[in-house]
Amino acid sequence: MKRIGVLTSGGDSPGMNAAIRAVVRKAIYHNLEVYGIYYGYSGLINGDIKKLELGSVGDIIHRGGTMLYTARCEEFKTEQGQLKGIEQLKKFGIEALVVIGGDGSFQGAKKLTEHGFPCIGVPGTIDNDIPGTDFTVGFDTALNTVIDAIDKIRDTATSHERTYVVEVMGRDAGDIALWSGLADGAESILIPEEDYSMEDIVARLKKGHERGKKHSIIIVAEGVGSGVEIGKQIQESANLETRVTVLGHIQRGGSPTAADRVLASRLGAYAVELLLQGEAGKMVGIEKNELVSHGIEEALSRKHKIDERMYQLSKELSI
Ligand code: ADP
Repeated sequence: MKRIGVLTSGGDSPGMNAAIRAVVRKAIYHNLEVYGIYYGYSGLINGDIKKLELGSVGDIIHRGGTMLYTARCEEFKTEQGQLKGIEQLKKFGIEALVVIGGDGSFQGAKKLTEHGFPCIGVPGTIDNDIPGTDFTVGFDTALNTVIDAIDKIRDTATSHERTYVVEVMGRDAGDIALWSGLADGAESILIPEEDYSMEDIVARLKKGHERGKKHSIIIVAEGVGSGVEIGKQIQESANLETRVTVLGHIQRGGSPTAADRVLASRLGAYAVELLLQGEAGKMVGIEKNELVSHGIEEALSRKHKIDERMYQLSKELSI
């Protein structure tokens, strides 16, 4: 193998640049040439492909977003689109591909591998929702962004003696809500994986209020429902002044944390190692701080789960 490609696809996440850098540097270290495919699978189909050198990935390790840009591409879900992509890769003499993205992007990588083009996936998403890895690149940064925001909200919540509902990202996975709620001592954490009861939320709020608590924070993962609606219900049920903040896309941006940069560097380099060993159709991950790999199909057939013990702990600590 002489030449590999790298692309980022789907939702961006902080640390994707550090992963690109690791792929490029590790490949060049092993005397491979590396081509960057811009705008994900869309750029792959259109041949938006350029050679990357050591310097191409200089000064990006600390930057959020992705220097290769990203896109969503419906055409790539079709066999015709996938074959067009392979044609472009062959035109550029690229023999294998590293795909940095979420589970949708991994489906694309799996399809390419099934068509005979070797791919390895690197999990990059803030949601931490990919089975087969304890952490995804971007989760830690998003988490720290949320915590920073909640700390600020807490100051004003205390000053006005208000209840705050904070809606965070997580359509199907409650990891951002659970971890940020635990890290910030939230009164209640609402996640898609667990049912919630308004009576329980109100009882907790009242209990805190009675013992003189000046503020309350309730974290809602977007997959549970609208934070605004849940805030209204709380205000009506608890008769406490309630404000709602929807954090939105700030959670996707910013300079990656040290943990994300290190994770991205390890995973990106490991993806290249696997390609050099002739592996394909796999995703890399980290489990108990060890680098691991799983077949994409096998990993995605599992369902991502939250850590039940952490959820229980959050309830025990917020009495
Ligand atoms: P993420 O990778 O962040 O989960 P998406 O689910 O939007 O983001 O997927 C990103 C892109 O991956 C899609 O726009 C599409 O081009 C490609 N993709 C998603 N699912 C499939 C699939 N089943 N087959 C082929 N390509 C897919």
